[in-house]
Amino acid sequence: MGEYGTYKGQEIKIGTCEDMLYLRPDQINLVTGAAVLNHLKELRFRFPFPEEDSIEPGGFDDFDRGLSVWGYEVPAEVRHYKVQFASNGRGKGILVMLPCPYSQEAKDSGLKYMYNGFGGPARVVQQRIWAGVWVTVLDCGGCGARFRLPDLDSAQPLILALLEMAKQAGLDDRKAAAKTLIEVTRRVEAGYSTPAPGAGRASPRL
Ligand SMILES: [Zn+2]
Repeated sequence: MGEYGTYKGQEIKIGTCEDMLYLRPDQINLVTGAAVLNHLKELRFRFPFPEEDSIEPGGFDDFDRGLSVWGYEVPAEVRHYKVQFASNGRGKGILVMLPCPYSQEAKDSGLKYMYNGFGGPARVVQQRIWAGVWVTVLDCGGCGARFRLPDLDSAQPLILALLEMAKQAGLDDRKAAAKTLIEVTRRVEAGYSTPAPGAGRASPRL
């Protein structure tokens, strides 16, 4: 179900069901008339990607924006979906549902997965309120299952992977990418010390 609110006198779409695809946590206070925002703890918000800092609520193009994270291990407790594969040989018309390559089931199966044009093991996609702070939500690169990193400890492997990517970007002289990755890392980390809204200010500062 589409969720709408009012921004600068105009109706904007902010999300679908509990996914605020077009609204970042720092923009919550800018939108009025959205009843769904009375249930902040049940919602997942667009991650504040630095390149999108100038985009207004509702103005985001890619509803499924994510930052691929390489060198990251999807946590063992994540519940994965099955992934559908299709035969593309002469005997077309064969479909099979296989365990996500990052699931324990796949690791135990003896199946060999190969990657060609793969987008990475996980993506940073959202932030949500959890245990009173803003935690980061990722999705699995294999099956799309979303999972939160509930505290700063559980976010450390992500933080290390992002910093390693930033370092590599720096070595490759991709200065803008390195800067962005460092800022993403800072925002991931800052979320864990940013109190979730109480009675007062709703939007966290970046
Ligand atoms: Zn998965």
